[in-house]
Amino acid sequence: MFKDFIVALSLANLTFITIWEEVFIDFYEGTYFVDFPDYNSLKAVMFNVLLLTLILWGAMRLLRKSTSPVVQLAARALFLLLLIIPLSGAASLLYSKFWAISLLNLFGKGCLVALGVTLGALALYDLACARRYTIRVATVVLVLLSPFVVIQFGKAAWFWYEHTETVALAKDKPLAPTLPTKDNVKLRIVWVVFDELDYRLAFIKRPSSLRLPEFDRLRAQSIDASQAFSPGDFTLYSMPSLITGVVAKAASAHSRDELLLFLRDKEKTVRWSTLPNVFTFARKAGFNTGLAGWFHPYCRIIRDLTACSTQLRHWSANGLNGRLTVVETMLEQASELLPRTVPFVDQQIEYKNHKIRLEKQRHLELHLGVANAAQELIVDRSLGLVLIHYPVPHPPGIYDRRQDKFTFEPAANYLDNLQLADRTLGKLRHVMEEAKLWDDTIVLVTTDHPWRAEFFRGKLHWTPEEEDLVSHISAPDRRVPYLLKLAGQKQLYSYRQEFNTVITQELLLALLRGELTHPESVVRWLDQHRATTHDNFSTERLQ
Ligand SMILES: [Zn+2]
Repeated sequence: MFKDFIVALSLANLTFITIWEEVFIDFYEGTYFVDFPDYNSLKAVMFNVLLLTLILWGAMRLLRKSTSPVVQLAARALFLLLLIIPLSGAASLLYSKFWAISLLNLFGKGCLVALGVTLGALALYDLACARRYTIRVATVVLVLLSPFVVIQFGKAAWFWYEHTETVALAKDKPLAPTLPTKDNVKLRIVWVVFDELDYRLAFIKRPSSLRLPEFDRLRAQSIDASQAFSPGDFTLYSMPSLITGVVAKAASAHSRDELLLFLRDKEKTVRWSTLPNVFTFARKAGFNTGLAGWFHPYCRIIRDLTACSTQLRHWSANGLNGRLTVVETMLEQASELLPRTVPFVDQQIEYKNHKIRLEKQRHLELHLGVANAAQELIVDRSLGLVLIHYPVPHPPGIYDRRQDKFTFEPAANYLDNLQLADRTLGKLRHVMEEAKLWDDTIVLVTTDHPWRAEFFRGKLHWTPEEEDLVSHISAPDRRVPYLLKLAGQKQLYSYRQEFNTVITQELLLALLRGELTHPESVVRWLDQHRATTHDNFSTERLQ
């Protein structure tokens, strides 16, 4: 009886192996990216394992009492069928491991399929001959793997304890008190980062189906740098690099309110919150600052802001964190087991569309959240420096560019989001014009990195149109848009020298100090500073 219980517990635990993994990943790194940790997912997976254990154990006890050979055979067949879920779960987890992929490449997929078919045939033969070798082997393996239950529950308990302890400490940094606005200084900078805005697709090789009049209109009155490149390819370290002026080559979430930055030599790590940044120096120079963004928990990290708002995912494993009760989360987790196990069935397609829709819905919420917060900041005359970090055109596609409206359809893609970014810029401009602030404000429009087709290819929301686009454009293009409109600027100035946009921080400070008032002076400044590499951060150059 006890052995039955152990077998049931081990099987139930392994059945949820992919769900466990997802919940744990979210607790490792994800709490940095969310409003609050997803305790419901943690509780739900534990309850699910215990519930399934009871069901399996109860069924085994009942079957022990039955003497019918038909019932016995059916029970054994069902037991073997149930093993498919943990086996396929383990396979999909292994598939994400480098060594497992190498092994697979070595033997070929055909080999793996042949192995699966052979094992299945052996199990069937075993069943048909009323022998129990397969069942016995499976039972022994399940008993041997049962300590895994203790590991998973132990980990869950530790995360629960650990995060309950630290969550309370991870609050937003207090906002800095508003400094009196200097009457004689009218300098204002609005720095707009459109996440994943691609230079080539937006300006050089714009597809004919794409209309970006606002980007063109801004470009016609800006300094347009045609050879700018971003400090990194990922928002995770590119945004901190832009804000601090220090090139980070990688980053890792350290806690709910801290990101570890790996500097150029990779040997040196530094906590993001300890680095001086563009807002620190702007404030020292007497300017109030504001930020509205997404992805990073900016408000938990950056000090010296007088206004701050961040849109975080506040969801995780099942995409619905914080919106479902424990019981609903349990059902959601259970309903995911089958589609994960059996690929290529109708249910799989529905499941995929459901996931895409959820993802798009959330992305739209993030976008609207940032756009709403931005509307206030860009017309707040007390703010001398405002950073807006929009979640578009970063995929998933949430816009229908042909009908000019939001959509959650699977066909909406990166190109649609490019047009949405253009419309967003148009609105921002309109609001500033209405407030009579557009002409006198310095506006910088850029991005944290270009479009990363290779990163999104094959992802759930990837579309045939994007695949087609990739096949038509040649090598990756690292350039990013960099449009800088000075106060009162009416004409286009082209800047064709290459530079890393990590110098943005210094450039903005020079602009705030009033040192650069004409396109010619900006161009001269760029010529002088573009060669500078920023391996190390020094505070003196920023004074
Ligand atoms: Zn990004």
